[in-house]
Amino acid sequence: MDFGGLETVVANSAYVSARGSMDATAATAVRDKRMRARLKLPHIKQCEDLKATLDMTFCSICVQQPIGRRLFQQYLDDSEAHKAAGDLWKDIEDYSISQERDRVQKAQKIVNKYYGSASNTFCSFLEEKAITRVKEDYRNIRGDLFKESEEQLLNHLEAQALQGFIESMFFLRYVQFKWLESQTVTEEWFMDFRMLGKGGFGEVYACQMKATGKMYANKKLNKKRLKKRKGYEGAIVEKRILEKVHSRFIVTLAYAFQTKQELCLVMTIMNGGDLSRYHMYNVDEKNPGFSETRACFYTAQIICGLEHLHQHRIVYRDLKPENVLLDDAGHVRLSDLGLAIELPPDKDKTKGYAGTPGFMAPELLQNKEYDYSVDYFTLGVTLFEMIAAKGPFRRRGDKVDNDEVTRRILSDPVSYPDAFSSESKDLCEGLLEKDPEKRLGFKNNSCKVLKDQPFFAEISWGRLEAGLLSPPFIPDPKMVYAKDIEDVGAFSTVKGVMLDQKDVDFYNEFASGSTPIPWQEEMIEAGVFGELNIWAEKGKLPSDLDP
Ligand code: ADP
Ligand code: MG
Ligand code: MG
Repeated sequence: MDFGGLETVVANSAYVSARGSMDATAATAVRDKRMRARLKLPHIKQCEDLKATLDMTFCSICVQQPIGRRLFQQYLDDSEAHKAAGDLWKDIEDYSISQERDRVQKAQKIVNKYYGSASNTFCSFLEEKAITRVKEDYRNIRGDLFKESEEQLLNHLEAQALQGFIESMFFLRYVQFKWLESQTVTEEWFMDFRMLGKGGFGEVYACQMKATGKMYANKKLNKKRLKKRKGYEGAIVEKRILEKVHSRFIVTLAYAFQTKQELCLVMTIMNGGDLSRYHMYNVDEKNPGFSETRACFYTAQIICGLEHLHQHRIVYRDLKPENVLLDDAGHVRLSDLGLAIELPPDKDKTKGYAGTPGFMAPELLQNKEYDYSVDYFTLGVTLFEMIAAKGPFRRRGDKVDNDEVTRRILSDPVSYPDAFSSESKDLCEGLLEKDPEKRLGFKNNSCKVLKDQPFFAEISWGRLEAGLLSPPFIPDPKMVYAKDIEDVGAFSTVKGVMLDQKDVDFYNEFASGSTPIPWQEEMIEAGVFGELNIWAEKGKLPSDLDP
């Protein structure tokens, strides 16, 4: 009997069933009751030290952090003076995620309720001009119909409601959640399922946060292997960048912790596998590559990811189909940010050889200074490969050395097979432009010019960015898009590495625990926030907030 094969079968079935059970209603059923019981709010007296360290900006507490925002909205709801503003805010949120067919009706309701001076819920802080524009325009479906109003609403709340919130019991509750969020994270909280892939320093496993049932990917970096192969810098850069970016087009870091042997990055799980191995080539071997519609959808999502990175001054440097991963619904995200680099505030260019042969831009290969534009060259290579099922400078499995690939990138024109339409060819040419000054890309802090290219004529960017466009392909929920376990080679053991105090300091810096925004999202999604956020009868303080 082939026990290797059996191992994969057993591991796959546990993983497929765990992954299928995680929707909001099933979450309470799959979570581990003992671990869930350990998520408890402390008495407010225990939070004094923490309170002094919190970021107190309005935007951070009341807008960006999901639990802070909820509690702030509960405060507004509870206060006579701010109730209408709070309701308007929630109605605008609801409008922005609702289906197109419901939007005009929802907009009409909002206008009647808050924009007419005769209404008793009229929002007088809205400026005349904003009111007029919304009234004139609400029959046209636009993602940004209420953008100006929302800005004025938030300015108003910052000036008029923030102080009251900070003095209220709702803020104390926020402090309690921040305490819970800042507790040390250990491996006890996670259960590993099967291996999803192998990286340079360790394996990536599917895992489940026991207390909530939420599935994640756990990228493990072996401490000794990292030290031996000088991987510290890359590891901390990847961790810092992942915790800084929040985009539906880039994997999110939810937890960073350590075990005796490993550093662990717990990230968004992408069950659909990478674009290269599981979709472009293996699915239909006789007819590899994607239709232009499919290539267009993925390219558009990749552009949104790149734009977000570039707005945060991060150069990715390693875009390729293998690093673009699919989720259950068929949306893609960028992953593997180990080669990324953040430009300091006073410098707009960087230097250094980094990337994958066949993808790197000419200016980088020539050892010149470069910026975000290198990522649009790699985007051109990626788009070319999606359509042609081979790279523009090398075929898959081609035995050419890197010098020859470099020579081709620097001097050869690209030739386009018949599969390319004139729109896709024009776009590829604009991206594969050898001169970075002339290349399509990130200009004036956005990708607007790129997004306006004819190849994307069918893409509604606003809806894509809100996650509302249906993907052209949905991965099979029963299929495992990962290598069989017995086909993944084992790592050799690391010998002759001693760890000292400096190493320990580094690990402690790395193991920063929960990332606030994803942690708070997880608590809300899994119902834990609702279960813990219990209030006493009106006018009374709950006992955990009673000094
Ligand atoms: P390295 O930087 O060491 O190359 P990667 O980040 O590329 O490591 O991860 C190694 C492999 O693990 C990937 O090729 C992919 O197959 C898998 N993997 C990585 N991140 C995820 C994720 N978030 N979800 C699912 N699989 C992942
Ligand atoms: Mg990798
Ligand atoms: Mg990497």
